[in-house]
Amino acid sequence: MKKIIIAIDGYSSCGKSTLAKQLAAKLNYVFVDSGAMYRAIALYFLRNQIDINNELQVSDALKNISLQFEYNGKTGKSDILLNGENVEKEIREMSISNKVSEVAAIEAVRLFAVHQQQLMGEKKAIVMDGRDIGTTVFPNAELKIFVTASIDVRVQRRYLELQATQPNISLDEVKENLVMRDHIDSTREISPLKQAADAVVLDNTNLTREDQLQIALNWVNERTN
Ligand code: C5P
Repeated sequence: MKKIIIAIDGYSSCGKSTLAKQLAAKLNYVFVDSGAMYRAIALYFLRNQIDINNELQVSDALKNISLQFEYNGKTGKSDILLNGENVEKEIREMSISNKVSEVAAIEAVRLFAVHQQQLMGEKKAIVMDGRDIGTTVFPNAELKIFVTASIDVRVQRRYLELQATQPNISLDEVKENLVMRDHIDSTREISPLKQAADAVVLDNTNLTREDQLQIALNWVNERTN
């Protein structure tokens, strides 16, 4: 079967990573969570008190950042390593969620991450999810999926997911963070989140995980046969 690039974009917490992970497992493709890269960069900036308005500080900091992915058999996805340290858990904390979109809007940060993402796609057989994958990272991807879901469903899903590790979090806090990130991500100057003209839309508000996988697999089959 022909190997392709699958680009999955959409608003925060609409199930992009779930779908990407399902597809990668089914097709035996590499799954890359591009958001984890921006989160790890934001973590480095926070830890090192980098002033995001200071271009020199930002470019110096980026020179000291090395990002890698390492497969985790327990979760069935790759964890992100920041300079060799597994930061998968830390990057999901609210302090990072509240900072990441500002960091991801910086041009130097995007150039740094996009370059690495493009290298990962050279051999195809990859599913990458994010905000600009179909528009900027892989504009020639054979399959582009734009995932959507109602805001209430997205908040509920994210809230349940975060409950496991951050039980003190409130529904309002989760909603505020999603709305804020969606706003910054879709209005930023460089590579804003938007549906690529040739993307297919998948609204999973009322779909089960199995339903959404089946729909996406049909699109994959159309493009690989
Ligand atoms: O996917 P996730 O919600 O973990 O992404 C965290 C943040 O990283 C997003 O809100 C967005 O600001 C940024 N991001 C991005 N471009 C991508 C992936 C994520 O700007 N391709």
